[in-house]
Formats: sequence, C-alpha cells, structure tokens
Amino acid sequence: MKKVALNIGAALLLIGIAMYILGVFMFNSAQIEINKYASTKGAQYISQSDQATLDSAKVARDYSKYIQIFGAVLAIVGLVFIGYGRVGVEYDKLPVTMLCPRCEYEMRTDRRYCPKCGLKIVKQNITQKL
Ligand SMILES: [Zn+2]
Repeated sequence: MKKVALNIGAALLLIGIAMYILGVFMFNSAQIEINKYASTKGAQYISQSDQATLDSAKVARDYSKYIQIFGAVLAIVGLVFIGYGRVGVEYDKLPVTMLCPRCEYEMRTDRRYCPKCGLKIVKQNITQKL
C-alpha cells in the first residue's frame, strides 16, 4: 500500500512537472506568435487567416495557463502521495510488538512495564534472554 502510494506519487510528480513545462513552452510559443502580430504596424489591415492564427494563439495561451496550473496541482498531489508513502514505510520499519518474558503478553515496544504482570521491561535483558 505504501509502495503503491510511493509509485503513484512519483508518477504524478513526473507527469505534473512534465505538464507544467509543456504549459510554459505552450505559453511562450503562443506569446511569441501574438507579439509577432502586435509588433506589426497597422494591425487593422491584418488578413483574415492571420486573424485566425492570432485568435488561436490567444486561445492556446489561455489554455496553457490551465495546463500549468493543472500540472502544478498534480505535482503537489504527487508530493503528498510520496510523503504519505515515506511516512508509512518508516512506520513499518518500527517493530510493533514484543512479548513479555514472564507472561508472554504481547505489547507495544515502547512499554516500560508489562501492562498484564507489571514486569519492568529492560530492553537489553529481553534481547539477551531471547
Ligand atoms: Zn508480563
């Protein structure tokens, strides 16, 4: 489950970054196209096909913003997945339970006394006895 979260997170992060970069490139190329017409004097004489190109460049520029935002959101979601996965993996490394040497009661490893028989838990003694 944690490994799956890590993999999904890494995939989302990569896709998100790729989408963001794609959005930036799309924005820049659309902006260059728009600037080309803006710098031409007498824009009222712009031909119909040029007007269509300019309009589609403006649409592309607008969409590229959404692509950038979507990519950034995907990357952040990916980071959340990675964070969740990493915390889970670290948590799994902790030994969860141990057995009381006297009464065999199963308890958490951070216990200092056995909750059942009251035996004081000394970690070194346990490992030596086991
Ligand atoms: Zn005990």
